[in-house]
Amino acid sequence: KSGFVALIGRPNVGKSTLLNYIVGQKVAIMSDVAQTTRNKIQGIYTSPEAQIVFIDTPGVHKPVTKLGDFMERSTLSALDEVDAVVYVVSASEKRGPGDNFIIEKLRQVKKPIYLVVNKIDQVHPNELPDIVNQYKDDLPFKQVIPVSALQGNNVNELINQLVKGL
Ligand code: GDP
Ligand code: MG
Repeated sequence: KSGFVALIGRPNVGKSTLLNYIVGQKVAIMSDVAQTTRNKIQGIYTSPEAQIVFIDTPGVHKPVTKLGDFMERSTLSALDEVDAVVYVVSASEKRGPGDNFIIEKLRQVKKPIYLVVNKIDQVHPNELPDIVNQYKDDLPFKQVIPVSALQGNNVNELINQLVKGL
């Protein structure tokens, strides 16, 4: 199995930490080689049964003041080129304008979207439902997966679910 997955989330939620943990020592390539002119390969997860290419989608992470029609369309078509989207949020911070912007974009994407709630090492498990509730009514998430990218908790479950969905 193989596929492309877009990693999306506002700054500092832990996207790079998560990717580093996933790719770890099994780095196939870390390159700026474009998959298309729009998407950048950030890392590749490889196992005997699957390969997942993680890509960045410029223009989705932060609000752009004068987002023209062209940018709007290329961002959306970039998202159309992947097999699934991983939307990363931080358990230790509230939903903010950056999240609203991303959610607005993702609402137009007809691909499986996985909500990854990162930094669960910083909150009590009792708080998780309220954290997830901030997001779950606005998008039809295929799965909600709490992880700690820093400690590696439950990241294998994220990979399992992504591979299963390919
Ligand atoms: P990005 O901007 O989304 O790529 O976020 P980074 O991966 O650069 O992480 C931002 C900060 O959050 C760094 O200081 C990380 O060490 C920290 N961080 C990332 N994941 C976790 C986590 O699971 N738990 C904790 N406690 N900190 C984390
Ligand atoms: Mg980063």
